[in-house]
Amino acid sequence: MYRIETDVHTHTLISLHAYSTAEECARHAAQAGLRGFALTDHCSLEMAQRENSIEAIFNQKVLPREIEGVRVWKGTEIDIVDFEGHLAFEDRPDRFHPGKTAAETFLAPLDVVIASVHTPFDRQPGTVEQNTRMYCAVLENPHVDILGHTGRSGHPFELRPVLETAKRLGKCIEINNASLLNYPDRSHDACLAIATACRDLGVQISVSSDAHSAFQIGCLDAALALLESISFPPELIVNRTVESFESFLHR
Ligand SMILES: [Zn+2]
Ligand SMILES: [Zn+2]
Repeated sequence: MYRIETDVHTHTLISLHAYSTAEECARHAAQAGLRGFALTDHCSLEMAQRENSIEAIFNQKVLPREIEGVRVWKGTEIDIVDFEGHLAFEDRPDRFHPGKTAAETFLAPLDVVIASVHTPFDRQPGTVEQNTRMYCAVLENPHVDILGHTGRSGHPFELRPVLETAKRLGKCIEINNASLLNYPDRSHDACLAIATACRDLGVQISVSSDAHSAFQIGCLDAALALLESISFPPELIVNRTVESFESFLHR
């Protein structure tokens, strides 16, 4: 059985459709026996606070690095918005920093950036070729650390080119517990295929709850069962300890 000490994809009230504060998340993380968690509220033109999400995510400097004895990484889950792999707000000029885009200014200081596909873009499934190019381009973005829930986003892609790009750049692919719990029919086989290919190609993964309430922090059972079923090597799980996640972030 895996022992995972951190949960690196969680949401707070900042995401508006989630239900807990950062402090509540930390308390539940501590109760769940975790040593660290990442705040990764949505940065999105469609969900959360839309334009305001930039301000809230940028302002995470007001939060401590440790709450309730639990390490807190500051981050975001940012939307992939087109088949070229652009991210939300990537092309918006930053009002306060002339010559820079909003995404450049607020992504740079974050500890962790997850890039994921969400509605309404996920209603255009795209061709396998388009999706493969899109995910490779997202991985090439220097700000992006983790490709989020590719198993449930409805954008089928060619595994090898995307996973080899992740490996070459030292980035990781997320195995998302909420996908397996909430959308098992559309996620299970895709997540299994992705995890198996990561195992075979030696590509690093993160395992995350994608908690939208503090009560879900550290809920990783479905993802871990899937990994166990294929004897996934624990050393490829970047968030197995605080130290392994820190060294992944400083790669
Ligand atoms: Zn997501
Ligand atoms: Zn999420």
